[in-house]
Amino acid sequence: MTSGHRHDAIVIGAGPNGLVAANLLADAGWDVLVLEAQSTPGGAVRSDRELHPDFVHDTFSAFYPLAVASRAMTSLQLEQHGLVWEHAPAVLGHPFGDGQWALLHRDRELTASGLDALHAGDGEAWLDLCRTWDRIGEPLVDALTSPFPPVRAGARLLPGLARSGGLDTVRMMATPVASLGRELFGGPAARLLLAGNAGHADFPLSSPGSGGFGVLMTMLGQTVGFPVPQGGAQALTDALVARFTSLGGRLETGTPVTRVVVRGGAVTGVATRDGERYDAPVVVADVVAPRLFGGLVRKEDLPARVVRGMRDFELDPGTVKVDWALTGAVPWAGAPAPAAAPGTVHVADSVDEMTQTLAQVASGVVPDRPFMLTGQMTTSDASRSPAGTESFWAYTHVPQPGATRSDAGGEVSGRWGHDDLERFADRMQARLETRAPGFGALVAARRVLGPHELEARNANLIGGAVNGGTSQLHQELVFRPVPAMRGRAATGVAGLYLSSASAHPGGGVHGAAGANAARAALWHHRTRLARRRRTP
Ligand SMILES: Cc1cc2nc3c(=O)[nH]c(=O)nc-3n(C[C@H](O)[C@H](O)[C@H](O)COP(=O)(O)OP(=O)(O)OC[C@H]3O[C@@H](n4cnc5c(N)ncnc54)[C@H](O)[C@@H]3O)c2cc1C
Repeated sequence: MTSGHRHDAIVIGAGPNGLVAANLLADAGWDVLVLEAQSTPGGAVRSDRELHPDFVHDTFSAFYPLAVASRAMTSLQLEQHGLVWEHAPAVLGHPFGDGQWALLHRDRELTASGLDALHAGDGEAWLDLCRTWDRIGEPLVDALTSPFPPVRAGARLLPGLARSGGLDTVRMMATPVASLGRELFGGPAARLLLAGNAGHADFPLSSPGSGGFGVLMTMLGQTVGFPVPQGGAQALTDALVARFTSLGGRLETGTPVTRVVVRGGAVTGVATRDGERYDAPVVVADVVAPRLFGGLVRKEDLPARVVRGMRDFELDPGTVKVDWALTGAVPWAGAPAPAAAPGTVHVADSVDEMTQTLAQVASGVVPDRPFMLTGQMTTSDASRSPAGTESFWAYTHVPQPGATRSDAGGEVSGRWGHDDLERFADRMQARLETRAPGFGALVAARRVLGPHELEARNANLIGGAVNGGTSQLHQELVFRPVPAMRGRAATGVAGLYLSSASAHPGGGVHGAAGANAARAALWHHRTRLARRRRTP
């Protein structure tokens, strides 16, 4: 093992959280090295042309409302480093299957008039929800993305809450999304928009927390849209890297870290797979919790409460993602006019069906009628594929590979080898065919990424878990990732901070976990210096 590289801080992993942390530490004048296992930086924010040379596909994530709503990202002013946001004509659509659509536009009046046409009264109810969000949205997002306790943002949230109905609004956010949709709206369209957005995390739709998350994602869609980076998700990562390196930061790719070195309860650096040692008093780990605690950091170097907490840590479900290169636009039945084409499309028959599908996944059953999130990427950003074609994807959740008991469709073993993936991708494609007759005839190429492929491309995505651990309430906020950490980045090992989606506030490309980790490191450093100055 060779040594001799010394830095102020090492960041393990160049996902969005790692890169946000690296930028903030470099802003403070620190000498920062980022070590990334893969040959390309970005974690789950990457794109490629693997499927077809003329088509850019986002390998993992695609839409970034959280990035444009979160101060952790916006404060970096990535537009000055080449980032350009693009929007589809409409934000989100949900076809009913009979040719009718629920549509979310960035113009709230347009959304409301569409909903009202489908069910009288739902337009005004929608505008009412928007008005509530106007009062609480910004401080709520700030509070959710701050470390615990969110004192300042919480104080800003209180007056808005009081003006928007006080406890009634708190109760609304705590209501399960399936009930909330029924309480707020008379027709199915707005209910589907809310429930589909709650389905971006792994809340059962009948659980508390699902309503709040559904409102959050829906209202972000309404206020900031679901933007995409021009050229592909990689462009967001490239901007983060460009900003970091312009400050003198260094990034090494193809360099998996195999160990975090701890001496006397404090980190001293890391070791990499090729035997290099890098020394630093601060290590920020953009690493999923089960691979960090008891993996890169030995159990004997961790506080007992963290080790105990990790015994109960729950991953989120697995994922199958299919990318298509299509020779034409998706032939949706009753498609909205091109001027109102949505970037994101949800596919499910009803809120009840979604509830059942998510319950299947939670109980180890591969769904026969998968609830799909899909993305029309060329509709969202014309640079993704030649004019008249569509770079398209769909993903859906499945049980974790080790937790699969059966397949409700009777075809898939749940081991997610090649045959399982192709059969399941056929099931997803057949479902799309029912919504878009003629879809199959447009397929020039198809790629299926299952739990194993996703993990091979990013070790944080264990079994295809996209959020670094379940988003359900018992592992959120002050409980994330383990109660011992109290919703903060400090791990109990001096100098080691958790910045990944496993940390509060969880999954999504908002950079908040990275910002929280960097701020904690800077604060501890300043406190140490002050203490040293006071000690003669
Ligand atoms: C299929 C999919 C679709 C998604 N869609 C969306 C979406 O549309 N919008 C949205 O906001 N979010 C979406 N998400 C979630 C979002 O992408 C993640 O929550 C986010 O990327 C988490 O960022 P991170 O920095 O914590 O980790 P990651 O992005 O997972 O990055 C972690 C990085 O650390 C590296 N690493 C891990 N271990 C080591 C090691 N030992 N040594 C060196 N490097 C290491 C990995 O290689 C990786 O590059 C999606 C995720 C997936 C998988």
